[in-house]
Formats: sequence, structure tokens, C-alpha cells
Amino acid sequence: MDIYKSLKEEAYEANIEIPHRNLAIYTWGNVSAFDPEKSVFAIKPSGVDYDKLKPDSMVIVDLDGKVVAGSLNPSSDTETHRVLYREFFQAGADIRGITHTHSPYATAWAQARRPVPVFGTTHADYGAETIPCTEYISKDVTKNNYEEETGNLIVDTFKKQNKNPQYMPMVLVAGHGPFTWGRQSAAQAVYHAAVLEEICKIAHFTLALNPHAAPLPDHIIRIHWERKHGPDATYGQR
Ligand SMILES: [Zn+2]
Repeated sequence: MDIYKSLKEEAYEANIEIPHRNLAIYTWGNVSAFDPEKSVFAIKPSGVDYDKLKPDSMVIVDLDGKVVAGSLNPSSDTETHRVLYREFFQAGADIRGITHTHSPYATAWAQARRPVPVFGTTHADYGAETIPCTEYISKDVTKNNYEEETGNLIVDTFKKQNKNPQYMPMVLVAGHGPFTWGRQSAAQAVYHAAVLEEICKIAHFTLALNPHAAPLPDHIIRIHWERKHGPDATYGQR
């Protein structure tokens, strides 16, 4: 019996959502699914087209970076995923899946090195605060493991900006692109990648129409965030 069967299936399903949601062309994106009990994650193999993927092609990696199951090489971004699971999970954030894409609007904001202000309620529904953007990765650390250092850069950005990955599931890496995650599943990480792309697109149009557009007043941000996430949330069916 394959003890990683359901984790591989979860990662597979989430990975094939990437082309379905138009979040990446070719192999420009990857998703992983984390099992906190086994302390391993399943991730897309490197350079394999989405239409060639199978649940069994997913690679299982532990939090020390060792491949524990799978015959293919894991995604080149595996080390970034690993650092985020290790650091965020150890810091007490529930994190079950991570997505990385080069979706155009989110990547454009990352290339412009602009954090995304809360311009409207679409954004406020998913995060009551600005979506952070890192600094460029420094020359010093790129001598080390670049992908691992990209993970460290994200973790440091959250620490410096006092952001909680539990409540802000998105980040832009300067000059590179977006990483998103989900508290519930790998599918939720992809969902957040699609939401981020849409938020970045709308923010871009907002600034095109009014380069001086101001962020949404705080009382409206609070209403939208709390009706979806607060203790008295009214959103959805219950
Ligand atoms: Zn990338």
C-alpha cells in the first residue's frame, strides 16, 4: 500500500488546476501538498508538462529536503516550498499547500516591485492588508542555494513586516513572481493564486484609471474581511 497515495492525488489535482485557471503556460508553475503528520510534501516533478502528469509522478520530499518517494526529480522550486513549510509551520501557521506561478498580472506587480494596496472589496475579502512584495534577493545569498534563499527571503519579509502567513496567504517575490498558500489544502493554494492574479489585474486597471487611487477606507476593509473570516462570518451557506 502506498502511504502517500492521497497526498500525491491532492498534489496532482492541484497542479492540473494551474493550466485550467490559465495561471501558467508550459511548465511555469508548481503546486505542493503538505502532510503535517508525516512531515512530508508531494510536489510536481521538474519540467513535466501538465498534460503528462499523473498522481504517481508526484515526488515526496521531507522537511530536510530528502526525496523519500518518487522516481522523478522534484520541481526546481522545491527548496522554496520546503523552507516555507518548515518555517511557517514551526511558527504555528497552518499551511497545507503552496503554489508558485508566473501568472502575468501578479508577476508584473512583482517585477514593478510593488506591494498591492487594498483598493477594493475584492481584495479585502481575502486579506485585510497590503499584499507584500519582497526586496530583490541579495547578491550575497544567491551564492548559496538560490531557491532555498528565496524561501528565506519570503519568511524574512513576513517577519520584518509583521505579517502573519495564517492571514496573508500571498506574497510577491521582487523581479520573480507570486507564491501563495492555503491553510486547508493544495487546492486552496491554487485558489489563492487565481484570486491574487485577479486582484493584481483589477489593481492595475484601478491605477490606469486613476494613478492616485487611494486604498479602501479601513471601516469597509474590516466589514468585508470580518463577514468572511471573523467570528460572526455570514458569508456562504451554513
Ligand atoms: Zn518561478
